[in-house]
Amino acid sequence: MDYTNERQQIVDYGKQLVDNHLTTGTGGNLSIYIPEDNKMLISPSGVPYYDTKLEDVVVMDLDGNILEGECKPSSEWEMHSMFYRHDAGVKAVVHAHSDYAAACSTYHKDIPALHYAAADATRSIKTTEYKIYGSHELAEEAFKVMGKNHGILLANHGLLANGSSMKQAMATAVNIEWLCKLYILAKSAGEPNPLNDSQLDDVAKKFENYGQSKESLDQIQKDIKAHA
Ligand code: 13P
Ligand code: ZN
Repeated sequence: MDYTNERQQIVDYGKQLVDNHLTTGTGGNLSIYIPEDNKMLISPSGVPYYDTKLEDVVVMDLDGNILEGECKPSSEWEMHSMFYRHDAGVKAVVHAHSDYAAACSTYHKDIPALHYAAADATRSIKTTEYKIYGSHELAEEAFKVMGKNHGILLANHGLLANGSSMKQAMATAVNIEWLCKLYILAKSAGEPNPLNDSQLDDVAKKFENYGQSKESLDQIQKDIKAHA
């Protein structure tokens, strides 16, 4: 079977949606783009994540033609393909009906950046206008509102995240859910103070050296010497 690795990722990360409490039932969907073949692999519609088998993953072209698979593709295939068609950097898309993101999606407003972690992919989290699920209108609206960001809320529905890999798109989905949770918690006890653009710019710069890379180790050593 072709695309075994990508099929496996759709199956494994689908289970992560459940394990990370990002969905209930069969809500949400996920896909991976194969640029060299101009195809995408997407989760099947309405199949529980823990029941999804490698052969249930649907291979499609970006016009919605099914190339491989017996299952019906996710009803949101057009929302996924819209990003692969128009944004060269996007290689994976995750959509979820997680509790806090779905709750925040009913405010119909931007969710302010209350924590520095918002500098990563979203800053303030924008929300689309309401469009019915699985529609061309929702796909167009989501693409328009996403712009250069990597995560948004779909009104009265849930979250949408994209990235240059499935790992990155899933991490952004988890981050959005956490930021929405934080917003609701903070709002419930007072009026929170969001970070401004310049503060978030500083964090985004610092993030370039975050974690375990050779460059970040070199940078830390330079900084330590400079302050010695
Ligand atoms: P699918 O099961 O068709 O992917 O639909 C779930 C969903 O989240 C629709 O928005
Ligand atoms: Zn949905």
